[in-house]
Amino acid sequence: MRVFSFESVIDEFEELTKDAGGHQRETLRKILEQNGEAEYLQKLGLGGRTDPESFKACVPLVTHSDLDPYIQRIANGETSPILTGKPISSISLSSGTTQGKPKFLPFTDELVQSTMQIYRTSFAFRNREYPIGNGKALQFIYSSKQVKTKGGLIATTATTNVYRTEQFKRTMTDIQSQCCSPDEVIFGSDFQQSLYCHLLCGLIYSDEVQFVFSTFAHSIVHAFRKFEQVWEELCEDIRSGVLSSRISVPSMRAAVSKLLRPNPDLADSISNKCMRLSNWYGVIPELWPNAKYVYGIMTGSMEPYLKKLRHYAGSLPLMSADYGSSESWIGANVNPSLPPELTTFAVLPNIGYFEFIPLEKQVGQEMESSVSTIHYIEGEPIGLTEVEVGKEYEIIFTNFAGLYRYRLGDVVRVAGFHNTTPELQFVCRRSLVLSINIDKNTEKDLQLAVEEAAKLLAEEKLEIVDFTSYVDLSNEPGHYVIFWELCSDDATEDVLRCCCNCLDMSFVDAGYVSSRKVGTIGPLELRIVHKGTFHDISDHYLELGGAMNQLKTPRYVSQSNIKVLQILNRNVTGCYFSTAYGM
Ligand code: AMP
Repeated sequence: MRVFSFESVIDEFEELTKDAGGHQRETLRKILEQNGEAEYLQKLGLGGRTDPESFKACVPLVTHSDLDPYIQRIANGETSPILTGKPISSISLSSGTTQGKPKFLPFTDELVQSTMQIYRTSFAFRNREYPIGNGKALQFIYSSKQVKTKGGLIATTATTNVYRTEQFKRTMTDIQSQCCSPDEVIFGSDFQQSLYCHLLCGLIYSDEVQFVFSTFAHSIVHAFRKFEQVWEELCEDIRSGVLSSRISVPSMRAAVSKLLRPNPDLADSISNKCMRLSNWYGVIPELWPNAKYVYGIMTGSMEPYLKKLRHYAGSLPLMSADYGSSESWIGANVNPSLPPELTTFAVLPNIGYFEFIPLEKQVGQEMESSVSTIHYIEGEPIGLTEVEVGKEYEIIFTNFAGLYRYRLGDVVRVAGFHNTTPELQFVCRRSLVLSINIDKNTEKDLQLAVEEAAKLLAEEKLEIVDFTSYVDLSNEPGHYVIFWELCSDDATEDVLRCCCNCLDMSFVDAGYVSSRKVGTIGPLELRIVHKGTFHDISDHYLELGGAMNQLKTPRYVSQSNIKVLQILNRNVTGCYFSTAYGM
């Protein structure tokens, strides 16, 4: 058996971060040499130079839409070196939740390597503080549909591309994170059935489970909301040793049935524990007594789920997972004991070449014209080791997957340094979500407004299951629409009216406030939707080829996203218009 030494992984990381600048230059050199043959680079006139200065002078900053024509050619089966020197083995589909259609991205072996490096690094630091024993992990992970592109490449989500590899299995064994459920559950074709089986397998191995995980925290919350509904059925399966008839996918049924034996003692014990719980507080440590923590991405758009997650996790610590995207990994959480709200990500200087666009907050006038520059004045991109603590930047990366000087669209803040590499905090997606004229509100602003209004609900013991937003321009003046799904139908009209006014008042951006005052933006509208609406939205994305792992609720629905708008609008049960500004 291989022995995983977390001390040596930590030592390696310490060594790597001592000279982040040196590793950056070396990494850029390797990337450019390896991809020198690619058509994209050839055209740019680098002429074999690999130093950062020449690179910056010759290679333009790009976003996904600039690269898309190249990626389409790869997907269509052209085998000449287009974006990368080495051939591309498969295509990743990024979630693309805002615009409603998934993006195509190249997936390469180097991405698998960097994924494993990130997993091992953060595990080593986690394990130093919260050692886990040999056992299993209750992992809510799901693969997505794998389709073939015109050119015969496999296209699927980045997480699925990773799960398909041998390295993934090996790393999971090394870091004692084997999933309780068999592959047939992870790769099952029906998300609801996979979720049920993950819960069941987790209960069968309840004494062995060392931690609970999902890629994004909302999947864990989702899983336990489901558990509240199906726990009796799960107990019945364990008592009788016969799997519920709701599991109809043959391979999943066969694989899970093999694990099931009649076990009335376990069923009684689970059932007694569930009945003793008060409103499911602390269900995770109660049912999985050896679990040491709950793990998953909890930052950024996952923050709204933290309250519910803390409720289910009770006394267990929450540990926020690493930072990356389908295009590239960025940093590992090497300070696992920080609460999720303060999580930082230490950039691994050998997984890509990173640059940072300094972003200064605007004071006063609205000088800019283009949407992408709103909110900030941009400086010239600087290198990884040149960033300053306390400042905010937009990340650019260049990596082995042939995405050159790629603007990911995320804003980060430098919280400090680990040796010479920066530790970043995720701030928000750069793109605006809500804007009608001179107003500018990001995903984070929306989240803060919703949190403010949710306090009024909390006084009534009510909570928001999920939310999203939309800009309604069908009438003059346009107005913001916020959709809420609530946990029960008990909210009174009065409370919802107050929430609506509170939302309107909580967008404190000067452009919004002044537009509201003069009436160039209409009263904010709160639309309440039926329970289960966000479920239907997830299902819709799953049908498009998304995976539950990677799904992030779209916090903003654009007008072009007709299908999601239809789902939302046909489920509206109540509408409230703000009177906060007297009109
Ligand atoms: P995708 O391409 O679908 O994998 O989504 C990538 C995006 O998810 C990133 O650009 C971030 O905006 C967000 N994201 C990924 N990891 C984190 C994290 N640890 N914290 C906050 N946001 C994250």
